[in-house]
Amino acid sequence: MRARPRSRRPAAVDPADWSDWGWQMRERVRDAQGLAEWIRPSEDERRAIDALADRFRFVITPYYASLMDPDDPACPVRRQVVPRLAELDDAAGLADPLDEVAHSPVKNIVRVYPDRIAFCVNNECALYCRYCLRKRMVGEPEWAMKKRELQAGIDWVRETPEIRDVLLTGGDPLIFSDDRLHWLLDSLRSIPHVEIIRLGTRLPVTLPFRVTPALCTMLASFHPIWLNTHFNHPRELTAEAAEACDRLTRAGIPVGNQSVLLRGVNDDAAVMKELCEGLVRMRVRPYYVYQAQLLEGTAHFRVQIERGVEIFHALRGRTSGFAIPTYVLDTPYGKVPLGYPYLKGREGDDVVVEAYDGRLWREPNPIERAIDPATDTAREAADPAIASSAQDAPAEKPPS
Ligand code: SF4
Repeated sequence: MRARPRSRRPAAVDPADWSDWGWQMRERVRDAQGLAEWIRPSEDERRAIDALADRFRFVITPYYASLMDPDDPACPVRRQVVPRLAELDDAAGLADPLDEVAHSPVKNIVRVYPDRIAFCVNNECALYCRYCLRKRMVGEPEWAMKKRELQAGIDWVRETPEIRDVLLTGGDPLIFSDDRLHWLLDSLRSIPHVEIIRLGTRLPVTLPFRVTPALCTMLASFHPIWLNTHFNHPRELTAEAAEACDRLTRAGIPVGNQSVLLRGVNDDAAVMKELCEGLVRMRVRPYYVYQAQLLEGTAHFRVQIERGVEIFHALRGRTSGFAIPTYVLDTPYGKVPLGYPYLKGREGDDVVVEAYDGRLWREPNPIERAIDPATDTAREAADPAIASSAQDAPAEKPPS
């Protein structure tokens, strides 16, 4: 198997410090001077750092900074975290495109579906992604959660028996200390109707040293725990990231990946294939790829949806089926899959489908008739509801 690259630790940094997540957090890059220790910032990047200082600051861990190409402003790692002047040129972008505030019954809980919630337990991350959906809250003190506010969220879950699935997100929940996380998980586990707890975290990508053996042991004591992380480009699949994911999966935690489709980062079928196949080699399941939202300051990242559909269509049949994530658009009404229309339509008793390479196949698939369960034979007439909807469907057209 191909060897994975390691991060570029500067010779002056002690290896024990480099792999200490506390050291990494303390030594984060926060200004142009610090950034210049890792890359040669372009004029655009320098000016953007000043221009965006009051809008959406930038913070980068030394680990992630070491993955950036020092000379190439188009580097897909660099594009994700270093400010650009293009962020100021987005007339359509919104602060809260999913209307999360309106879906919030109590501070930092977002409820779109009846049985599950996102609980934004933290407003901090190891670094700030320029396209972050929650940039309105990341790093902003008003969204920080005091312990009593976390308790209010837990109490709301306890009083809401429909909630069976709690996603801890943020910000990033793994920024919490082990003790704070233990308290949070223990409190949620004491609620009988909470069946699963999910963690949404980018730390395996941006600060893999946070995934310590002690953390994994603690998480495993609260099973079933699921975890989704957020790799966007094959260059992020380092040896350290793979080791972090390995520690999680060995602790019995299924690890999935949720990317965002980003122009200039991963909007290319070959790059997406390399990313997804690399994830599968790490035993991380490519789960979702999100269409970038209509979010303020991100017009330069957005990809036309039809092109996104074509990227995933190009993967079908060319790699393992489970290496292909579902491309989705998140909306205030929930997630909508954006799939290629392989089902072309009905012709009499056949349906016509398109194979991955474009060839059409007619599959005999008679219009359903109502079956008498006592004899397994068709009743006199076809089920009128099914028959009429099938007859209404035009041939050779994707069903609406
Ligand atoms: S890690 Fe996630 S929550 Fe944090 S800045 Fe990046 S996208 Fe936003």
